[in-house]
Amino acid sequence: MLEIEDITAGYSSSIAVLHGVSIKIGQGQFISVVGPNGAGKTTLFKAISGTIPLRGGRIRCEGQDISNLEPSLRPHLGIAHVPEGRQVFPSMTVLENLEMGAATEKGRREWKDNLERIYTWFPVLKERASQYAGTLSGGQQQMLAIGRGLASSPKLLMLDEPSMGLAPSIADLVFDKMMEIRRDIGLSILLVEQRVAEALQFADRGYVLETGRIVLEGNGEALKADDRVRQAYLGM
Ligand code: ATP
Repeated sequence: MLEIEDITAGYSSSIAVLHGVSIKIGQGQFISVVGPNGAGKTTLFKAISGTIPLRGGRIRCEGQDISNLEPSLRPHLGIAHVPEGRQVFPSMTVLENLEMGAATEKGRREWKDNLERIYTWFPVLKERASQYAGTLSGGQQQMLAIGRGLASSPKLLMLDEPSMGLAPSIADLVFDKMMEIRRDIGLSILLVEQRVAEALQFADRGYVLETGRIVLEGNGEALKADDRVRQAYLGM
């Protein structure tokens, strides 16, 4: 679905943040990228979304080179980005937020079915459809951010630290929902997370990103059992 090949990227004139990063996301796969603060996880997502340019390497989506494609066109290829910190529109209602996600042609065409599915996965969004998004709890806002991403009818959902700032039980609920959604519609998911144990447990493949480089990769369970991961990230 998405192939990230040896990319280098960074911000304006400063030195590169990502150095030769390669990641493959197959159809329907769940891929996790874990790593410490400042490793470049959000920067990776910005490079995939096109909001920062590549300095080297390339990104292909279903075989098409999208390295230089306008960021605004990428959602139309089925790439949805659920940003860090959720970033819902607080003074718009829940339903209006979801409608904002349906800005792709496919999302508009499939809006009714998508809305029904989103409400089935997240019944609280249906209950609160006419409420301002700013009045929702953190967990509900995260569900809304995911719902807004799903409203674009994506093939790949990129989730930037969905558990951030959530109570552990709510974060678990969000992880469970992601698994359910993936199972239901065969969606590819790219997750970046600091909750390393959970992120790797569910992953078909995991990558460890440190100071902009992939330092370890492998099957999620195997990575979780790796001594280096256990020591550096799981406190064992
Ligand atoms: P966190 O979990 O803290 O968000 P991260 O792994 O997502 O960490 P990034 O946010 O991608 O890390 O940051 C990677 C590096 O890029 C950091 O050194 C950061 O200071 C730098 N950086 C991030 N955003 C910008 C920016 N807009 N301009 C310049 N440098 C930036």
